[in-house]
Amino acid sequence: MTAAEVARQIGVRDTTIYDWLLGQARPAEPKRIAAFLDSLPREDGSGIAPSGYEYREYKNWRGIPKPRRCPFCKEAKGDIRRSRGGFLGVCPNCEARGPKRGSRDEALAAWNGKS
Ligand SMILES: [Zn+2]
Repeated sequence: MTAAEVARQIGVRDTTIYDWLLGQARPAEPKRIAAFLDSLPREDGSGIAPSGYEYREYKNWRGIPKPRRCPFCKEAKGDIRRSRGGFLGVCPNCEARGPKRGSRDEALAAWNGKS
């Protein structure tokens, strides 16, 4: 499935999606981003990712992984929050949301692009 097909499915133009991924626009409805990211194939090298955004794993001095910087606005680091029925990464700046997962660790991994 291509980004353009996904865009049609969630009701936005594909150019809108690319603007989000490039960080040139902020979504009015961050939930759509989570739905979009959830719908993308998970295998490596699928070719759709925020460009110019290099994944680095952040860890504190104990080696516990920390949420990475928000890939959409790049203004703030993610915050793992409890949500109805699970946990998800949320950007405190632009409210972008990562996929919901059953545990804090899984939500963190998902926010960090490792799910
Ligand atoms: Zn953000």
